[in-house]
Amino acid sequence: MTKRVVTLAHYYTQPEIQQMADKVGDSLELSLYAREAEADIIVFAGVRFMAETAKILNPNATVILPDAGSTCSLVTQTDVTALKRWRDNHPDHVHVSYINSSAEHKALSDWIVTSRNVDDIIAHLYSEGKQVIFSPDRNMGAYLNYQYGYEMPLWSAVCEVHDKFNEVALNEALAAVKGNCHLIAHPESPLPVLKQAEYVGSTSGMLNWVKNYQGDVKDVIFVATEDGILYNMGLARPDLDLRQAPIYAGCQCNSCPYMKMNTVEAVKRAQQGIGLTIDYLTTAQMDAARLPIERMLDFSKRYSL
Ligand code: SF4
Repeated sequence: MTKRVVTLAHYYTQPEIQQMADKVGDSLELSLYAREAEADIIVFAGVRFMAETAKILNPNATVILPDAGSTCSLVTQTDVTALKRWRDNHPDHVHVSYINSSAEHKALSDWIVTSRNVDDIIAHLYSEGKQVIFSPDRNMGAYLNYQYGYEMPLWSAVCEVHDKFNEVALNEALAAVKGNCHLIAHPESPLPVLKQAEYVGSTSGMLNWVKNYQGDVKDVIFVATEDGILYNMGLARPDLDLRQAPIYAGCQCNSCPYMKMNTVEAVKRAQQGIGLTIDYLTTAQMDAARLPIERMLDFSKRYSL
């Protein structure tokens, strides 16, 4: 019998990879799609923690990552033994972790969040009188502390792509524009950049901001996130002047090397069953990691996030 193959692609992959996919989206959209997918094989053109999340949510499917090297700096900068110690040092806190984390990391967490629902979930926990520790993204945690006046202890890892956005280069780029400019940014960016943004949100949130933009089309819109999404933004609003925020003077080419490992050849091979099969997680590990993810998905469903 022919195997049902479903291919998922993150917005940060190349346009030609997105064109090969059944579904293109951000982490949350792809996780939800993977959970419901009636597939024998899920090819996940993204990075390893995303493929692990798909496997955790749909354990009966064979999940294949096209290139075994597609990791994420938020994962590689987090030693799970040290993380456990840190968590154990905060026994009265709820441990909230960003979805950009390994399965082992998720299994140590009380809640998983994405950039789409992190604000609401943490606000909900504080409204219940809870104290929160946040991992692994230091920039996202610093932004939440700044924005809402929290004092969450933070783990210290960064997205090596977003962390490169730079206030000085940004100010120079903004000053070089003759007319009006806008800045929208992903919360994995450094706080000095986020403080200047008129919108801070998830990849999908930024895409929607661009789709719904009602301002002057002559204005320049700087986007502080991975360059892949500029393709989707350009498709949605070809009338706008969209530019990636700079990482240093003259450089507007900030892309994720791990996402770009998803080449056409690697994805085609994965669709034939060749790649990194996510078969190394035990049932106990998957069960432990699923709990905080399901908690997030239930919350998002309840509040239509
Ligand atoms: S863009 Fe950053 S957070 Fe996303 S996969 Fe690449 S390194 Fe990880």
